Amino acid sequence: LPAAYDELRGLLREAATLRSLGTLAAWDQETMMPPRAGAFRAEELALVSRLAHERFTHPRVGELLAACESDAGLLADSAESANLRGIRRDYERATRLPPGLVSEISRTSSLALEVWRQARGMSDFPSFRPWLDRLVALNRDKASCLGVPEGGELYDALLEDFEPGMTAARLEAVFAPLRRELAPLIAKAATSREPESVSVPVELQREFNLHVAKQVGFEFEAGRLDVSTHPFTEGLGPGDTRITTRYREDGFTDALSSTLHEVGHALYEQGLPKQERLGQPLGEPASLGLHESQSRLWENQVGRSRAFWTWALGEARRVCGEAVRSLTVEQIHRDVNVVRPGLIRIEADETTYNLHVMFRFDIERRMLRGDLPVAEVPSAWNARMAADLGLAVPDDRRGCLQDIHWAAGAIGYFPTYTLGNLYAAQLWETLTAEIGDLEAQLERGEFSGLVAWLRRNIHAHGRRHTAEELCRSLTGRPLDPQALISYLSRKHA
Ligand SMILES: [Zn+2]
Repeated sequence: LPAAYDELRGLLREAATLRSLGTLAAWDQETMMPPRAGAFRAEELALVSRLAHERFTHPRVGELLAACESDAGLLADSAESANLRGIRRDYERATRLPPGLVSEISRTSSLALEVWRQARGMSDFPSFRPWLDRLVALNRDKASCLGVPEGGELYDALLEDFEPGMTAARLEAVFAPLRRELAPLIAKAATSREPESVSVPVELQREFNLHVAKQVGFEFEAGRLDVSTHPFTEGLGPGDTRITTRYREDGFTDALSSTLHEVGHALYEQGLPKQERLGQPLGEPASLGLHESQSRLWENQVGRSRAFWTWALGEARRVCGEAVRSLTVEQIHRDVNVVRPGLIRIEADETTYNLHVMFRFDIERRMLRGDLPVAEVPSAWNARMAADLGLAVPDDRRGCLQDIHWAAGAIGYFPTYTLGNLYAAQLWETLTAEIGDLEAQLERGEFSGLVAWLRRNIHAHGRRHTAEELCRSLTGRPLDPQALISYLSRKHA
């Protein structure tokens, strides 16, 4: 390989290594950090993120990239030329944003987060409104700097950060039929019955969750499972992937759902070729939507199946003993698949969840366009809760103030959750056909066949293709809501 490419990859690796130190500090903040360290931690994070940005946007990176782009040998290699296209895209996006705008967004959102926490606590949207106004305006500036694709809209420029290649118009085309088909399905399946509650000591749950994570294929020599208020996954680098979950004495199946979700993310991180490709597109996930498909697939398609619980309940009995003695596979299977419309997205069941996401997409897209004044967000929100889920929103705390995303300055993030569900269902159809006896494998607690399929077909490719290109090449079809609709219909039939 040419010397310019070596040097370029060295600089990218250094930028990624700096970012990784920031991520490690952020992981620590959520799991271990003492309360009074907050202000200094913010300084540490700001410094490493500035250094990483400077390293990545250095003019030398541009020179080396240009040299590589005129190297016939590199261009003839399809993997390396895809890698170079990805680096070019990232470099352009990073250098198009004026540093003043970047720091203004980060300063405004860290202040807005504080205001939002207070406002949510008191259900006081008016106090948050000017901050949301400001963040929408800043996001508009950001989108204009990044550039709107031909025939596209401002939203597309923001979406590109989370879901490369996706557009708002394409999302609308996929979401509209999904929303239409979910309504009758939910009306038929919805129940107000509360799942039976069992109490399992947290220490036993911890042991059970560690056991399942290990059995599924999470490599503990290359990762950790800890506890945090909001579960998350951080892929720090080669050999280091951190996940968290949370336990409640009466939340036995919830904790396992969280763990399986994060293990799904972690398997993707552990399956990326980071040793050779750290900081390069081919060593990074294709998109947040595809990342979410990996977590949802383990949480839902595996973790809510009868086959999985046939194995897992036996293990739970062995580890947790008396506490789970009364549970049956049928009961768990029914309880983890209940459809119960609610006000809160993060508590929503698998079926109603997508409605929460799709109306957030509509609202943020209209805010960005200027079609929906920020002052009217609560009424727009409440109207959609009534239309889509049949629920009256009693206050903004349980309405438009519930999520952190807008306060953190993130517009264009929400759709990736539903994209994850859509990709998971579509990939599941293909992989069950290809693996053949997957159900029998799950019943025996054998996960290596599934992990190997995901490794080979998804994880190993990094960001060589967009999520939808990968979906098309694996399933033979572009992204389409039918797989998710039929998966949910079969389940509730
Ligand atoms: Zn996730």
